[in-house]
Amino acid sequence: MPGRMFLHTPGPTNIPEDVLNAMHRPAEDFSAPEFMETMLRMFEELKDLFRTKGEVFAYIANGHGAWEASIVNLLSPGDKVLMPDTGRFSLVWDDMVKAFGISTVRLNNDWRSPIDPQAVEDALRQDSEKKIKAVLAVHVETATGAVSNLEAIREAINASGHPALFVVDAIASFGCHKLNMDESGIDCVIAASQKGLMMPIGISFTAAGPKALAASEACTSHREYWSWKSRMAMETYRRFCGTAPMHMVWGLMKVMEKVRVEGLDNIIARHARLAEATRTAVARWAEGGALEFNTVDPKSRSNSITCVRQVGQTDMNTIRQVARERFNVSLGGGLHVLADKAFRIGHMGDLNEPMIMGALAGIDLTLKHLKVPHGAGALDAAASFLAETA
Ligand SMILES: *Cc1c(COP(=O)(O)O)cnc(C)c1O
Repeated sequence: MPGRMFLHTPGPTNIPEDVLNAMHRPAEDFSAPEFMETMLRMFEELKDLFRTKGEVFAYIANGHGAWEASIVNLLSPGDKVLMPDTGRFSLVWDDMVKAFGISTVRLNNDWRSPIDPQAVEDALRQDSEKKIKAVLAVHVETATGAVSNLEAIREAINASGHPALFVVDAIASFGCHKLNMDESGIDCVIAASQKGLMMPIGISFTAAGPKALAASEACTSHREYWSWKSRMAMETYRRFCGTAPMHMVWGLMKVMEKVRVEGLDNIIARHARLAEATRTAVARWAEGGALEFNTVDPKSRSNSITCVRQVGQTDMNTIRQVARERFNVSLGGGLHVLADKAFRIGHMGDLNEPMIMGALAGIDLTLKHLKVPHGAGALDAAASFLAETA
C-alpha cells in the first residue's frame, strides 16, 4: 500500500521520528558518569511531568507491570480496596489486585460513564472501621472513552474523612489530560510509555507521594523486582533492578525535550482540540442513526480516545476492518462487553490537525463505502472547528 498507515489505536501511538532517532545509537557503558547523569536527570524531569515532589519509579515493563508494582508496594494480603468500576481496564486491574489476596469493594458502572464521586464518598463513609486501604481509580478508561474527575474524587475522599490512599491509573491520560499529582492530592500515579508519551512499549512508571512511600514501608507484600525501597538508589543498576534500558532513557529524554518545547499545558490543549474535532465528526455521523457516543455525558468524553458505539445491528468489526485494510486507518476494537459493539478512535500523543483530519476522512470513506447510514458534513464540521479555534 502506498503512503502511511494512520495509527489510531489507543496505544501504541505514533512515535515521532526524532524520538526514534534519539534511540538509534550504539549501546554504551551504563555505569559511565555520562549515562548516570542522564538517568538521574530523567528521573528529575519525570517528576516535573507528574507534577510531584515525590519519587518516580520506572520499570522495564508495560502498564501491567506498573499496576503490579503499585499493588505490591502499597497493599498487603488481606487488605481491602475500593475499586470503582469504569470498564474493562478497571476490571483487569481488579482481577490483578484479587490475585494478591486483596479483597475489593466494587462500585457498579454501566461502562458508559465516569466514576461517580458521590458513590465513592458513600462507600468510604460506610467503611466505619476504616478497613479500606486505597481507592484505585482509572482516570481515562480506554475501553469506554470516559474520563473521571480526579479533583472531585479527591474531594469525595476528603468529605468522607477516610484515610484511604488515592491511587490513579493514568496510563491513557498521562500527557493528554491535566494531571497535577501533588496539587490534586493523588498519592500514587501509574503511567506507561506507549500512549500519550509517544514511546515504544516497554517502560512504565509509578510516582509516589509521601503517604504512599510511608505505606510501602509498612506493607508486607513480598516483592523484590518491583520494590520501591531497593530502587531508591543512586546507581543506575539498582534504579532499574538490573541493566538500565539505555535506549528507552534516550528516547524518553527526547520526549521530555519535546514536551518542554511545546509546553505541557499546550500539549493538553492540543489534545482537547483534536478530540473535539473528532467528537464534532462523530456527532454528525451519529445523525444517521447507526452510531452513537459510548460515553453518554458530553463533559465526560475523554481527550485521549473516543469510543463509538453501534445503534441497532451496525457491523462495527467490518467498519474497523475496512478502515484498516482499505483506507489505512487503524482503529481500536470494542473490548469485553463492548466487543463487536464499538470501535475506538485513539487521538493521543504525536498528532496534528491534518493527521486527525486524515483519520476522520478514512472513517468517513469507510462509512460511505459500506453504506452505513451517517449524517453528512462530518469532515467539513471538523475542519471548520479546527480552523475557527486555530
Ligand atoms: C493500556 C492501558 C493499560 C494497560 O497497559 P499495558 O501497557 O497494555 O499493560 C492499563 N490501564 C489503562 C487505562 C490503559 O489504557
